[in-house]
Amino acid sequence: MQIQEELSATDTTLVAVSKTKPNEAILRLYEQGQRIFGENRVQELTQKYETLPKDIEWHLIGHLQTNKVKYIAPFVQLIHSVDSLKLLQEIDKQAAKNDRTIDCLLQMYIADENTKFGLSEIEAFDLLDTNAYADMQHIRIVGVMGMATFTNDTTQVRNEFKQLKYIFKQFKQKYFAEKDYFKEISMGMSGDYRIAIEEGSTMVRIGSLLFGNRLNDRTGN
Ligand SMILES: *Cc1c(COP(=O)(O)O)cnc(C)c1O
Repeated sequence: MQIQEELSATDTTLVAVSKTKPNEAILRLYEQGQRIFGENRVQELTQKYETLPKDIEWHLIGHLQTNKVKYIAPFVQLIHSVDSLKLLQEIDKQAAKNDRTIDCLLQMYIADENTKFGLSEIEAFDLLDTNAYADMQHIRIVGVMGMATFTNDTTQVRNEFKQLKYIFKQFKQKYFAEKDYFKEISMGMSGDYRIAIEEGSTMVRIGSLLFGNRLNDRTGN
């Protein structure tokens, strides 16, 4: 329970990243009070939703293909990984079919690696300026998400988180100044969540540190 206690002293929401973990491991955390779980694959997420308690709040944190949105639209609580207008349009369409509004984060490209998904700042501004986005009735963009470079250079990681916070502020000012719901910055994983919280994270996505098998520990915890 160490990390849960540590986070309870902050305003940061803990998303327990349960990808590849069996239901029993998820239930152990559930019994300790954890209700928010994140998965990165649609099929696994759907199976877990069907077999685990219904008061779990499921987040999709990994790359999402347009043709798979329909499987999660009935129940997903937050999609962290919106990286195109086309995907957002499909989420809006499937949410409408389910008579729901789905909360989304724009995944921003902040890392110094070409392997990670995400929008550049310009791409995100372009998306938010489209009429197609203005017409959407069944999605809400509630913030941004980003992943720092996989490196032990904590200065670089910190700068990337600072950059995401800066992007968040720009979006807030330009598009969401009156929208109280636009408030989430999803950043920080097992190896860098302390830096992320210091830089203003509102949501950390933590897997290995919670479920065992810690990898890539940058902060020495
Ligand atoms: C796996 C994953 C995490 C959690 O990573 P850990 O290092 O295990 O904490 C967070 N975010 C995303 C997008 C992931 O795919």
